[in-house]
Amino acid sequence: MTEPNAPDPRLSVRITAPDRATAFDIVRRYPFDYGCRPTALPTDDGVAVPALLSPAEIETLRNNGIDVDVRFDIRDRDEGTAPIGDGDRFDGGRRPPQGVGTAPDGSTDPGPILNVDEIGSAIDGLVNEYGIPTFTLPNGTAEGRPSTGGQVGDVDPSRYHVYFTAGVHARERGGPDALLYFIADLLHANKFGTGITYGARTFTNADVHKALNTGIVFFPLVNPDGVAWDQRTGSLWRKNRNPAGAIPGDEGSIGVDINRNYDFLWDYRTHFDPSVTGNSALASDDPRAETFHGAAPLSEPETRNATWVFDQFPKLNWYMDIHSAVGDILYNWGDDDDQVGDEAMRFFDPRWDGARGVLTADDYREWLPEADLGRIRLVARRTAAAMAAVGGRTFRPIPAADLYATSGASDDYAYSRTWIDPQLSKVHGFTMEFGYPTNFYPTLTEYHQNLADVGAGLMEFCLCAADNPVT
Ligand SMILES: [Zn+2]
Repeated sequence: MTEPNAPDPRLSVRITAPDRATAFDIVRRYPFDYGCRPTALPTDDGVAVPALLSPAEIETLRNNGIDVDVRFDIRDRDEGTAPIGDGDRFDGGRRPPQGVGTAPDGSTDPGPILNVDEIGSAIDGLVNEYGIPTFTLPNGTAEGRPSTGGQVGDVDPSRYHVYFTAGVHARERGGPDALLYFIADLLHANKFGTGITYGARTFTNADVHKALNTGIVFFPLVNPDGVAWDQRTGSLWRKNRNPAGAIPGDEGSIGVDINRNYDFLWDYRTHFDPSVTGNSALASDDPRAETFHGAAPLSEPETRNATWVFDQFPKLNWYMDIHSAVGDILYNWGDDDDQVGDEAMRFFDPRWDGARGVLTADDYREWLPEADLGRIRLVARRTAAAMAAVGGRTFRPIPAADLYATSGASDDYAYSRTWIDPQLSKVHGFTMEFGYPTNFYPTLTEYHQNLADVGAGLMEFCLCAADNPVT
């Protein structure tokens, strides 16, 4: 017997298909929960699409002749999911966070996942221990929570070139933690003249200085309302908690997907091919969808906070939005396949409205300069390789439009800015998908592995920024 209030199982699955075109078609037909965005993992005899499904959704697919490989119930793992911290391990900022890459002899146990208050006191701890500057984001959230970001580098805003965000999708546990612990590692290694070690991947003290000299801005908890709600309810909550568009009595219709709310091809029904607008993976105008894109581009305070940072630090060139869970480093573009041949095909050109987003087809594709494509592929490859070198597993450097297009996502917004206004600095936008496919609630062991993987990736990303001036 099921308990009356027990939530439906949410099963981590892989939908298998003989090829990418079939997988694309399955996603197009079934608007299920494919995580941040759908992706196709190569298998021995085709591809597998990770998804988080209810038993009824699995039944629907199977009844239509589609193979589904069920892995586990995301909330009911054999080892148990990592607990959320129930106190304040940083004692209101009197104790600084200690990263996993500089812990003495690797001995420090990072413990459970940081709760929302601990994320705040971790920032205070960094300020008290290392004297870094912080900034308060200008927009309060729907529930009135303030947001704080930090800076590592020079005082001059024009000396900052790298920008990291985390905690956008509430359920993707451990992202803010990994970003904060990485910053803590950098500062600790700088203060004590050491290197940083993540598993089998080591960085020297010279690397630490090189990374710090890029100037790093970090905003570790973009969606504090959503994260607080997810941590309280275990509901695999993705969106923010803005009730404005909600349908009375329908809990799931609260909130907006921040990562479909950016001002980049936001009006998807105008900009994309009608054949791809039916799947909510692209974006949705239905408040009940996980990818509800809000009432207007940048309608959400969280989105405006994240974009405000681009304006405050006018020389940013490298942006990484930290998500989970797949095992990928995604690079531009996300609205369609990349191409370097036809400069007439551009996201801002209305002549291509209604034509975008059909992948695996040789039609509209999003242009970018060949030099940019070479640069971002190199950086994605290096970042993924550094994460793999930690020793846990492989990571893939892939285009953001891997299996399905997205509208209104952060990485595309970052890169689009300079094409709308050439006065603005060119920012290459990336999305990190740490962790294992649709494994939003890691076990404690996986959480600790994720901290090391992400740390190595962010470190290498900063070194890439130093090695690759953006023109
Ligand atoms: Zn995400």
